[in-house]
Amino acid sequence: MLLALARAKINLALEVRGRRKDGYHEVVTVLQSIGLADVLTFAPAEGGLFLEVSGEPVPKENNLVLRAAESLRQATGYQGGAFIRLQKNIPVAAGLGGGSADAAATLLALNRLWGLGCPEEFLERLGAEIGVDIPFCLRGGTALGRGRGDELTSLPSLPALGVLLVKPLYGLATATVYQEFDLHLHPPCFPAEEMTHWLYKGQWQLAVKSGGNVLEEVVFRRYPELRRLKEELLATGALCAGLSGTGPTLFALFPSWEEALDKASAFTVQGWRVWVTTTVRRGVRLFWGENDAATSAG
Ligand code: ATP
Repeated sequence: MLLALARAKINLALEVRGRRKDGYHEVVTVLQSIGLADVLTFAPAEGGLFLEVSGEPVPKENNLVLRAAESLRQATGYQGGAFIRLQKNIPVAAGLGGGSADAAATLLALNRLWGLGCPEEFLERLGAEIGVDIPFCLRGGTALGRGRGDELTSLPSLPALGVLLVKPLYGLATATVYQEFDLHLHPPCFPAEEMTHWLYKGQWQLAVKSGGNVLEEVVFRRYPELRRLKEELLATGALCAGLSGTGPTLFALFPSWEEALDKASAFTVQGWRVWVTTTVRRGVRLFWGENDAATSAG
């Protein structure tokens, strides 16, 4: 049995540069893996793909785990199957890329379990056909995403910073937020470029302060409570705070996990869900279960 930790992502910075011919938006974004993770287990099975889901509600039908597994089988011609269990801890439609993380974990784990030996670049290309955040979830760490967000350049890592996540009870569909975004109403700004510059200079404190997400205006206009939430997060003395992706989750960064935990209690009130974690340097971790080779696989 192979166990995978599928880590969520936050967008430390997000610029939208225009609309592409393929219907997607052209973005420049700084992506960061965080410790909040779904847990998946994989065991070989004859004749099919079987999925069990527990935890956060997510449909089994059309699940990204099965889509990733099926596309790996098709791309390689592999005939065997797998039993997959998904313990869903990352909230769904939250801007945290949970579905992409699960798909990335599935590609890496089944590549290992089935002994396919596909190189990581191959898995990234396969993942990009399923979802734009999957290549980042495969690579993990801190990275600049261009194009649809899937043309990646790895960036110098941040230290392990404390991350406080606060989310309202509702979710938001990515497509709806982008549909409401009007390029003409947004003066050009370049938080992702600026953040990248400071990361290359080794100035992570300046880097995290230079972030920003142009989609905040769209989301905050419709949900003013999220604008107030961002102000409250900043008022705790956080290094920075912002909307992750298309939201509705907001994140705040602190110098340590303990400081993030210390500030969290102020937000554990009715109507909000709260998580405390850290930034991490890897997207997916694989481990062999006890009955198999006892070595860590990545
Ligand atoms: P992003 O920030 O990449 O847009 P998100 O965090 O906003 O992602 P997800 O949680 O990845 O959104 O879910 C997006 C959609 O994908 C949901 O409508 C959900 O039903 C569907 N989905 C399919 N499989 C999964 C999965 N394994 N986990 C989460 N969502 C899934």
